[in-house]
Amino acid sequence: MDAFPDVEPSWIVHEDDEFLVVDKPPGVSSQAADADVPDDIVARLRQWLTRQGKPSYLGVHQRLDEDTSGVLVFVRKKELNAHVAQQFERRRVKKTYLACVTGWPKNRNEATLRDLLRVGDDGRAQRGPGGKPAVTHVRVKERRGERTLLQLELETGRTHQARAQLYLHGAPIAGDVLYGSVPAPRLMLHAAELSMDAPRGGRPLTFRAPPPKELLDFLEKGERGARVYDERAALDAALRLAARRRYGLARALPEARRTTAFRLVNEAGDGLPGLAVDVYGAHLVAQFYDDADGLWSDARRDRVLDALGALGFEGVYQKVRPKQANTLVDTRRDDLAPKLPVRGSAAPDELEIFEEGIPYLVRLGDGLSTGIFLDQRANRRRLRHAAKGKLVLNLFSYTCGFSVAAAVGGATKTVSVDASAAALERGRAGLTHVGLDPRAHQFVADDAFSWLKRALKKPERYDLAILDPPSYSSTKRGRFVAETDYAELAAETMRVLGPGAELLACTNHRGIRTAKFRRVLFDAARLAQREVAQVKDLPPPSDYPAPVGAESHLKAVWVKLR
Ligand code: SAH
Repeated sequence: MDAFPDVEPSWIVHEDDEFLVVDKPPGVSSQAADADVPDDIVARLRQWLTRQGKPSYLGVHQRLDEDTSGVLVFVRKKELNAHVAQQFERRRVKKTYLACVTGWPKNRNEATLRDLLRVGDDGRAQRGPGGKPAVTHVRVKERRGERTLLQLELETGRTHQARAQLYLHGAPIAGDVLYGSVPAPRLMLHAAELSMDAPRGGRPLTFRAPPPKELLDFLEKGERGARVYDERAALDAALRLAARRRYGLARALPEARRTTAFRLVNEAGDGLPGLAVDVYGAHLVAQFYDDADGLWSDARRDRVLDALGALGFEGVYQKVRPKQANTLVDTRRDDLAPKLPVRGSAAPDELEIFEEGIPYLVRLGDGLSTGIFLDQRANRRRLRHAAKGKLVLNLFSYTCGFSVAAAVGGATKTVSVDASAAALERGRAGLTHVGLDPRAHQFVADDAFSWLKRALKKPERYDLAILDPPSYSSTKRGRFVAETDYAELAAETMRVLGPGAELLACTNHRGIRTAKFRRVLFDAARLAQREVAQVKDLPPPSDYPAPVGAESHLKAVWVKLR
């Protein structure tokens, strides 16, 4: 699909039969984090070359951080590797970067930064014993208010060298989440030029990548310049960056882990506050979070939908999320969640998507929810791996995504409890769809709190339970409010668990942060008079990046009891 190209034409700076030089965009890594998911620049270039019937050999001599853009030089002939390697070893390679920083002293136009750097346990480069020399020459190119555009020459090539040194010298690079700087649409660091001796002598080889527009815009206008929704070019750039970050999910997963539904845009975590966009096969679902400041005028929403419509998908569905999800709004109101796509053509009423090779059935035009919560993908995988031979309890099961994952993973039986009979009916269909017999599993249409009361009096004890209640719920006994009642609910759940059982507990409630959630579960164990053997935080998948300094909405904890 066009939305996830291997390589965009603008990345290619130079191509001959000896060298391939790219202007790597932010959002593409130099080295895949997971060897099974080859989504790095080298793998993408090799794919791209192969598709054109060209030799795909690339000799690799340098890297850039995922969020840094700019010149990367690859060798296309093995014979040239020795020469280039030697150029790097003998420091004959001259690398020039551009960085936009804040905090650079007004009276200082040039400086040489020298530090002994080592990478600490938190993944950040810092000064310290055993550090290796890092040398960066700095020259001021331009100043605008608090912001300074610096030209950097890196004499050495330590991990995060420019980012760490500028931070340590009081002028962190804008948009540097790791080192803590002013927010910006991206890390404002760009490898602008690289030169080295030519293999057969003569004039040195010099490759350049033009300064990125975002960097120049940020220098001119600062944070307020990043009015993503008011300008089509900025919106397109943000969407392309988000898509580049999901290339691994969209294109590089091995067939057995094929995933056709995932998050493409995660609000502020992708620099697009108030907007979430999910991929469902060939379709998109755009969710607009209506906030008090009236972020979403009709014109803005149309601009976003037009930009999404141009990404190459067959259709775009729209959901408008009212600010207070807990107040009673009819979520089937047609203006909030139209049945038909607002751009392009419709998907089948019941659409099959895949998640790590497992098929699920979803409905894109049926209310605000589609039948699957995609942020639980990693948890469904964890459950699948933990369920073999176990009796599994799924409370607030909705369409039974967790039950399907557990059943596929070899659970002897799953028991799904939800107040909605219609949701459970979809759970039965989901089990049938993966080739399992729903009659071997149990579906209980009831209030989860009443069910727990009854279950306590029965002999059955569960080996594995999922507890994923809404933040607010009316129950037969009154009202459940996650913030105050979660511990009691978790305790009641623990009382129906057997020895050595495990609990996957989740909450989306904003008032409960991870640290507090862990405490809530310890409180629950105390109330249930159970001993906790192990507690583990479960981070959301990579397509749900949290914005700078924030936590993701979904908090999940795995508790193992004695
Ligand atoms: N765990 C699910 C999502 C749960 S959504 C998943 O991963 O797909 C919340 C569900 O809780 C809804 O299906 C709703 O019908 C159900 N629910 C709300 N209040 C309830 C109650 N008191 N008893 C049982 N189910 C309830």
